[in-house]
Amino acid sequence: AKSRNKNRYQFYIATIDTEIRQRKKLEMDLHMALEQSELSLRFQPQVNLNSSRIIGVETLLRWNHPDKGNISPDTFIPIAENSLDIIPIGDWVLESACSYLSAWRQSGFDDLRMAVNLSAVQLQDKSIVERVEGLLSKYQIPADKLELEVTETSIMEDIEVSCAQLNRLKEVGVILALDDFGTGYSSLSYLKRFPFDKIKIDKSFVDGLPDSKENTVIVEAIIQLGKSFGLEVIAEGVETMAQEKHLRHAGCLEGQGYFYGKPVLDDEFLDVLKNWDRD
Ligand code: C2E
Ligand code: CA
Ligand code: CA
Ligand code: CA
Repeated sequence: AKSRNKNRYQFYIATIDTEIRQRKKLEMDLHMALEQSELSLRFQPQVNLNSSRIIGVETLLRWNHPDKGNISPDTFIPIAENSLDIIPIGDWVLESACSYLSAWRQSGFDDLRMAVNLSAVQLQDKSIVERVEGLLSKYQIPADKLELEVTETSIMEDIEVSCAQLNRLKEVGVILALDDFGTGYSSLSYLKRFPFDKIKIDKSFVDGLPDSKENTVIVEAIIQLGKSFGLEVIAEGVETMAQEKHLRHAGCLEGQGYFYGKPVLDDEFLDVLKNWDRD
């Protein structure tokens, strides 16, 4: 039995060793990904549930790895945060998003709001405020047409700094959204303390609608909460008409999800914008 445990232990060590190596390799590949043009953006519409119009768009990052193909941002964002490559990558995402928005504005879609995900590391970075201001002026974008999405988990990393940084961004006039709402801790106290304009109901709660009694209660509570705090509320991960109907009746004004459109490339998204009201 002893030798079997020893084997198992060695196997365990070997597995961890491979995982560390693989992660290290991925980290090195990711370091080159930006200049090798392996990163790209997708755009997903955000819709007003009453008027059915597109009010905004969320930018989602993609990595096409030369050998491994598409790697999910849920896998590579944490690696980029750890190596701090998220700073140049995040800058690139912000600037590209602003540049696309500016082009779409010139095509006449000047009410459109662009939402960009901001990582904890970016939020803690003191120079982010000046960079955002610089991009708004370079691309002639009114501040309230740029929305920054942060998660509760990411503001938890350093509550004081996050709060100060978010207040500075709020002064610039950009829209601040709390992403994945309901999945972290002490949501209520954060809502009061932080200058958010908007909350995004996490997909995990929308998934169960309309059948799950629990999710129904949670979603309705979040919508009411948002209303009493004067916050915009958007539901993410809307996939069916039944979910949309339920959300609308519960008083939710905005939705995002495959039901309205999957994340697509910029030129496809421009087509979506152009054809939206026609059908
Ligand atoms: P998130 O911000 O919560 O983004 C929503 C995720 O749900 C996206 O996954 C989106 O493609 C997916 N989604 C949207 N509608 C539906 C739907 O109806 N059904 C289903 N099943 N999925 C839907 P994605 O693109 O894989 O991104 C995963 C996460 O990676 C994002 O979650 C966000 O936390 C992070 N991420 C993506 N792009 C960036 C970025 O540029 N910067 C940072 N810091 N994080 C990013
Ligand atoms: Ca998001
Ligand atoms: Ca989310
Ligand atoms: Ca999420």
